[in-house]
Amino acid sequence: MQINVKLIRKETIASGTMAFHFSKPRGFEFRAGQFADYTLIDPPETDTEGNTRGLSLVQAPFEEDLVAATRKRDTAFKRVQKDLPIGSEIKLDAPYGDFSLHKTQSTRAVFITGGIGVTPVRSMIAQATHDKTAHEITLLHVSRTPADLPLKGVFEQLARDNSNFTYVMTFESALDGWKDEHGRVDAAMVKRHVPDLHKPIFYLSSPDGMVKAMRALLVGLEINEDNIRTEEFSGY
Ligand SMILES: Cc1cc2nc3c(=O)[nH]c(=O)nc-3n(C[C@H](O)[C@H](O)[C@H](O)COP(=O)(O)OP(=O)(O)OC[C@H]3O[C@@H](n4cnc5c(N)ncnc54)[C@H](O)[C@@H]3O)c2cc1C
Repeated sequence: MQINVKLIRKETIASGTMAFHFSKPRGFEFRAGQFADYTLIDPPETDTEGNTRGLSLVQAPFEEDLVAATRKRDTAFKRVQKDLPIGSEIKLDAPYGDFSLHKTQSTRAVFITGGIGVTPVRSMIAQATHDKTAHEITLLHVSRTPADLPLKGVFEQLARDNSNFTYVMTFESALDGWKDEHGRVDAAMVKRHVPDLHKPIFYLSSPDGMVKAMRALLVGLEINEDNIRTEEFSGY
């Protein structure tokens, strides 16, 4: 579907990370985990990368708004997007992608994400929680510091609402008083949080080459590559 959507709200969801809420067009259908191409209309500036970016749909299909979340950077697209006035329109071309939750509810889902890579994961876990599916779900979410972790409060709430969902945060920087996981995701951390490594479906989504590194880590743990699904946020 190609349609213009209206910006209804924007907010900061972590240090250097913003969410943009758009009105959902009537009849727009998608699967949790998919993404949309957003194109700026007559932007005041542009650069060689152009006026379109693919951004995951953060909200789940059952929810009212469409939400895109991005890490702010000094590019023409991001500058214009940050300053978009409420009520302005952006062109949406969607849905795309096949990064979505498997149907077999007795198979655990393990998500390993870095920073902003968590956007499609939020959609999938929110929809599973809403539908009260029986999936056991584990999310390992890494960022530099707690302040950088997008949607932290949202996942904490989902973990309270869904007893099948376990949210594990880990931070690259050493933190005073933080007794839980710290450091990047490594084999030992995966083993600590995933009971039977050979049964789940693993979902990897991130910018910055983390998807490639995590795939290598899982393959090193002799996890069947058929059980690994990925969404690389190319462009960062
Ligand atoms: C399926 C899919 C889903 C995605 N979902 C999301 C999402 O939910 N949220 C999200 O934020 N992104 C998402 N992305 C990535 C998104 O499409 C953009 O590529 C990304 O946001 C970068 O856009 P930009 O305007 O910051 O950089 P661009 O202008 O596109 O930058 C292009 C290149 O310029 C260089 N560059 C530009 N600025 C800098 C800088 N400040 N520092 C270093 N290098 C720089 C880099 O080499 C970069 O690769 C997704 C991508 C895919 C493929």
